[in-house]
Amino acid sequence: MKRTYKTKARELLIAHLENHPEQRFTAREIYDAVCDGKVLINRTTIYRNLERLCENGELMRFKEPNQDAWYYQYSAEHDHCDRHMHAQCSVCGKVFHLDNPFADDFAEKMLKEYGLAISPADTIILGSCSKCRCTKKK
Ligand SMILES: [Zn+2]
Ligand SMILES: [Zn+2]
Repeated sequence: MKRTYKTKARELLIAHLENHPEQRFTAREIYDAVCDGKVLINRTTIYRNLERLCENGELMRFKEPNQDAWYYQYSAEHDHCDRHMHAQCSVCGKVFHLDNPFADDFAEKMLKEYGLAISPADTIILGSCSKCRCTKKK
């Protein structure tokens, strides 16, 4: 009985994220959306499921500049978000998945030059995307 209940939480969670693929949510927002005032799910269950999805690389987690809360984002087009670095526009929040050979080169060079082994899952490069740079100029 308890098991189905837990699976249900996970299903609702994934369904919600899948319906809003490129949007980011805080754990609290996800919790509110999933429960929607109707379903009663333990907050910890949701948080634990989020953690697990991140560990599996199904979900990416990042911190917004100047914010304490973690944001979660489901990526429909990218797998293994735990294995590549990400870049993010600090203006609009758009996320780029750097599953690109040059990112591996960069990681390799960091290791060689600075002795720093990058942990891809925790690395977000911040910048401003082309769209945001254009609107700024106007
Ligand atoms: Zn990714
Ligand atoms: Zn932008």
